[in-house]
Amino acid sequence: MDFNYSAEDEAFRQEFRAWLEANKQFAPHRAEVLGDEGSGGWNAQVRWAKKLSEGRWLAVNWPKEYGGRSLNVMQTIIYNEELARLGLTPPMIGMGISLLGPTLIHWGTEEQKRQHLPKILKAEEIWCQGYSEPGSGSDLASLQTRAIEDGDNYVVNGQKVWTSAAHHADWIFLLTRTDPAAPKHKGISYLLVDMKSPGVTVRPLVQITGGKGFNEVFFEDVRVPKKNLVGEKNSGWQVAITTLMFERSGGGGDRGALFQVRELVNLAKKLPRGGKTAWDDAGVRQKISEFTCEAYALKYTGYRQLTRRLKGMPPGPEGSMMKLCGTELNLRMQLFAMELLGPYSQFEYHAPMAIDQGKWSFRMLAARGGTIAAGTNQIQHNIIGERVLGLPKG
Ligand SMILES: Cc1cc2nc3c(=O)[nH]c(=O)nc-3n(C[C@H](O)[C@H](O)[C@H](O)COP(=O)(O)OP(=O)(O)OC[C@H]3O[C@@H](n4cnc5c(N)ncnc54)[C@H](O)[C@@H]3O)c2cc1C
Repeated sequence: MDFNYSAEDEAFRQEFRAWLEANKQFAPHRAEVLGDEGSGGWNAQVRWAKKLSEGRWLAVNWPKEYGGRSLNVMQTIIYNEELARLGLTPPMIGMGISLLGPTLIHWGTEEQKRQHLPKILKAEEIWCQGYSEPGSGSDLASLQTRAIEDGDNYVVNGQKVWTSAAHHADWIFLLTRTDPAAPKHKGISYLLVDMKSPGVTVRPLVQITGGKGFNEVFFEDVRVPKKNLVGEKNSGWQVAITTLMFERSGGGGDRGALFQVRELVNLAKKLPRGGKTAWDDAGVRQKISEFTCEAYALKYTGYRQLTRRLKGMPPGPEGSMMKLCGTELNLRMQLFAMELLGPYSQFEYHAPMAIDQGKWSFRMLAARGGTIAAGTNQIQHNIIGERVLGLPKG
């Protein structure tokens, strides 16, 4: 591939860089990014999203006619690079910008688009994703939440779980079974449900980090107007797959690994060891060098993914490889930070004497979740085994 940026891409970079330099003081402090609850983290994310929205720097991948910037893949990479240069990420305010908006643009009725897209764009309407259930995760199509027609409504009963940000959300996009007799992929419908509807109960789940990022959501005789159906009745699987494609198609890049490597270096340089620092230990430097090589390998694998997309080819196996290798590298780096910190690794996030506010132990505890979310790593192994290596189905 061509590693040079075009003049147009460079101009785009300068425009976004200038805006970021002028507005970076509105971005959440990194500690706020980690503390999903109880530290003002959520409000800081929403404030940052509204600031980006004012500059038209939120939802940059949406088409221009819907308030986005119609960025091409290369510009998306640049957008993420410029955020990462300052140690920032796009705001984490649920699934409206990244998943539901693009899905509605593709599948929604004019009324659905008019009702929701402008509010999502201004970070005024927060969405969560109602896919997983207690018995349906990897095998999502086995979901049991039912929706039965009653006049102008569907009546929904069932339970979702691991629903990120449901406690902040105004709306949920929900997969429901509308034809129990049909083969499992064929009887599913995709509904937009107001979280304030009578019969919706949200119960937070406390994670090992102490945070409350996700929830159980219960539906008891919840009435949902039929106009909130996206796509055709019983064809919701197609709509759901569109959403999943938006979830899995990252814009290349290294999934933050190079930024994490730099932070590990900084940590090693300030930790005392035998009258010097941990960085003076050749074994430590060697380990961090290994992580650096892996992080660069991820970066260039991301570029391979990008090359396919620039050439208009369908997504290849790079997405699964990036997800698998990126989340496992992240987990190993966090575990190595624990080794470096020694007894200091025991301090919890925000504990008074903790090094770097205890963010390393928080990240170590959170890292396992990355290997599960958006398709577990075992499932990624299956995909690579079957579609890349041509191995028989397990
Ligand atoms: C941080 C985080 C955020 C999340 N946010 C959301 C959200 O907002 N909305 C939402 O709907 N869901 C969300 N999820 C749920 C997530 O999508 C599921 O956890 C995931 O799909 C796995 O499903 P499961 O937990 O039911 O595990 P299961 O599917 O029950 O898997 C259990 C174990 O069996 C393995 N396994 C299962 N099938 C196979 C197979 N065929 N071959 C080999 N191994 C297999 C899995 O890899 C896993 O180790 C989130 C999860 C996490 C960790």
